[in-house]
Amino acid sequence: MKNFIANWKMNGSIEVLETYCQHLASNQEHLTDSMILALPALYIPMARHYLKNTPVAIAAQCVSAHNDGAYTGQLSARMFAELGCSYAIIGHSERREIESIESTKNQMLQCIHSGLKPILCIGETLQEKNEMKTIEILTSQLQPMLTLEQQGHDIWVAYEPRWAIGSGLTPDNNEINIVADWFKGLSAAKFIYGGSVNPDNIENLAKCTLDGFLVGGASLDYNLTNQMVSICTHCS
Ligand code: PEP
Repeated sequence: MKNFIANWKMNGSIEVLETYCQHLASNQEHLTDSMILALPALYIPMARHYLKNTPVAIAAQCVSAHNDGAYTGQLSARMFAELGCSYAIIGHSERREIESIESTKNQMLQCIHSGLKPILCIGETLQEKNEMKTIEILTSQLQPMLTLEQQGHDIWVAYEPRWAIGSGLTPDNNEINIVADWFKGLSAAKFIYGGSVNPDNIENLAKCTLDGFLVGGASLDYNLTNQMVSICTHCS
């Protein structure tokens, strides 16, 4: 079984969410707690209501690097935990545009103190890939996680090449396995892949040394989600 993390980003509506959750709740054949739904924060209470009799877990898409205080518009890890979230995506490439590596470390710490499991995203740009800098970039993004892991904290890592996100492009299995093997040499944490995963390529990608998938665009459609979750449930 592989984990399936759906990242809705800033998409959806109350109507879309209701329909999606009702489908999930009434068709639980493939559902386990390895399905994780990262929703816009405002929709989390409603999703929790609709999914209360399912094993689906809910994730925050980001959290504040701070505990409490004068941070207008920000939401803390503690607040997401209060809403029943179990996970938080940290350092998504769309957040790294405005967040430093130091900030991702503080966000992971906030998650740990609040009981959320952080899922740290790492990934290189196309230019960095072409300049053969992938491992160098991933190493710097991963460093805070490795320090926290050495202190006994369980943090998942999602390898999301920036050039693969929303582009329809993916690395080939050999390229993913090179990164996965490098990662497994450093860490015992779960290693997830994200970037243009869909029902047509997920079965092939699942042959890589991976613990699951983080899916953006294709996870907005219930039927596509159902197909992918079903494949994740049945593969080792
Ligand atoms: C993402 O944004 O984390 C992602 C993987 O997006 P997509 O699946 O649309 O490439």
